[in-house]
Amino acid sequence: MTPPDTARLQQLDRDHHLHPFTDFKALGEEGSRIITSAEGIYIQDADGNQILDAMAGLWCVNLGYGREELVTAAAEQMQQLPYYNNFFKTTHPPAVELAETLCRLAPAHMNRVFFTGSGSEANDTVLRMVRRYWALKGKPEKQWIIGRENAYHGSTVAGMSLGGMAPMHEQGGPCVPGISHIRQPYWFGEGRELSAEEFGKVCAAALETRIEELGADKVAAFIAEPVQGAGGAIIPPDSYWPAIKEVLAKYDILLVADEVICGFGRLGEWFGSVHYGIEPDLMPIAKGLSSGYLPIGGVLVGDRVASTLIDEGGEFYHGFTYSGHPTCAAVALKNLQLMEQEGVVEHVRDVAGPHLARRWKELEQHPLIGEARSLGLIGALEIVADKASGKRFDKTLAVGNLCRDICFETGLVMRSVGDTMVISPPLVITTEQVDELVRLAHAALDETMRRLE
Ligand code: PLP
Repeated sequence: MTPPDTARLQQLDRDHHLHPFTDFKALGEEGSRIITSAEGIYIQDADGNQILDAMAGLWCVNLGYGREELVTAAAEQMQQLPYYNNFFKTTHPPAVELAETLCRLAPAHMNRVFFTGSGSEANDTVLRMVRRYWALKGKPEKQWIIGRENAYHGSTVAGMSLGGMAPMHEQGGPCVPGISHIRQPYWFGEGRELSAEEFGKVCAAALETRIEELGADKVAAFIAEPVQGAGGAIIPPDSYWPAIKEVLAKYDILLVADEVICGFGRLGEWFGSVHYGIEPDLMPIAKGLSSGYLPIGGVLVGDRVASTLIDEGGEFYHGFTYSGHPTCAAVALKNLQLMEQEGVVEHVRDVAGPHLARRWKELEQHPLIGEARSLGLIGALEIVADKASGKRFDKTLAVGNLCRDICFETGLVMRSVGDTMVISPPLVITTEQVDELVRLAHAALDETMRRLE
């Protein structure tokens, strides 16, 4: 039986709370799961169940839950200066220290950061900066931004327009004009008649084709996540990024690498762009920047764009009340300091990532799994009806959601994107905890199979 306090909270939630990315009516019927506390890589619900959070919240709790140092950093900053802004000609120590630390950790050519409150706001900022840059360069007709189908860049109007999620585009009126989407490098889903290597090149060639269709003199930038997260942990073939890099250089088009998920260690480097050896002009960041403890994002700006905006731009009419919020900045700074002191990025690259890669791959033996892929600490499982052909289950069965719900029941948070199961655990996960994660995932797949019979 549901404990009374849980029932009460569920009723109030049903009566008053509209949840993000949720079918409001369906949730009202089912009732929500109430998370009350967390420690390390585990969350706890109102009924006392402990659940291994293999999604690190929403791909963000990189240092894990319950870090006292972050709580202290927030409390001390709130006592000292809970809020002040960075507009006009003011600043405060946490924003300055964070900016310096970020630029030290970022690739050498990135020496400026513009703070925002979230990843979506970071991408709104990107859109304005990119078009402003070309206008200042005397090429205001360079307006088009090319993104990718099934990419996620946020939920503000600019974020969802840059993203390539068709269901989002269908709601809430027209997208921002001047944004075009090309195919995604999703080999398992769309390219298996080719080798992964060939498919990566085909997807990069799609960029060149689109640039020529739109006119190179009209294309401002290409935006992409180094590894697509919300689209289903889509790890591009090795041939993809080098080919993309060549195309962008050939046509003098800016590269925006959306590091909101890949940044801060997820792929075993401070930034996903470093893993792939790409040199973006702009990098939106958020999530792992503060390990999700407080909301903060930003855009790291490369020297090429920054020098133009600074030397030729005059006032940039853009900013948020919470740009570089001191308490959020203090927590983000402490988060980055702890990551450095504890060697968290090295742990992902040398220990947890390789261990996950080995253990995760074993799940490919499961009768339901067509592919098990991972890179660093992001991974996906492709659930299929037929292993040999890769044929999917009928959509109406919603097998991914079934598996996700079973995971929750059995103590694991794994996200479903259609029939792709996704993980992105806290970066501090130990090898023993990786084993536990794989064991729970295996058991959930067995139970999913049993319920499909
Ligand atoms: N960009 C990427 C790659 C993301 O995954 C997300 C969120 O999941 C965003 C941007 C939007 O960030 P936020 O939810 O902080 O606005």
